[in-house]
Amino acid sequence: MKDHPIHEHHAHQHGANCGHPAVIHDGHTDYLHDGHLHHLHSDHVDEHQLSITTQNPAACTPTHRCDGHESGHRHGTNCGHQAVSHGDHVDYLVAGHLHFAHGAHCDDHGVLQLT
Ligand SMILES: [Zn+2]
Ligand SMILES: [Zn+2]
Ligand SMILES: [Zn+2]
Ligand SMILES: [Zn+2]
Ligand SMILES: [Zn+2]
Ligand SMILES: [Zn+2]
Ligand SMILES: [Zn+2]
Repeated sequence: MKDHPIHEHHAHQHGANCGHPAVIHDGHTDYLHDGHLHHLHSDHVDEHQLSITTQNPAACTPTHRCDGHESGHRHGTNCGHQAVSHGDHVDYLVAGHLHFAHGAHCDDHGVLQLT
């Protein structure tokens, strides 16, 4: 019985220097791949989801001041930051924490630690 979602048709082999950032998720290592967390599990790749937790809240933090990027930066496709799905939305990884583009400001959705 499979008790976790498996990423089908995953030809790419994640590993050191595969080009995908490795992050710490719940005490293990996952690879960020197109906004998904991929976990190597013996001969297949599990699809992990970053949940909304106290460590990674989906909070609005309009006063978040950050040196991660210039003020006025607009996150989006090809903005230079790694997209990460978080709960029901997409964040961007900026200087080791998650930014959610919320109008004119960025919300701080907590730390995502790179390995
Ligand atoms: Zn990879
Ligand atoms: Zn994981
Ligand atoms: Zn906000
Ligand atoms: Zn920030
Ligand atoms: Zn960005
Ligand atoms: Zn978020
Ligand atoms: Zn931002």
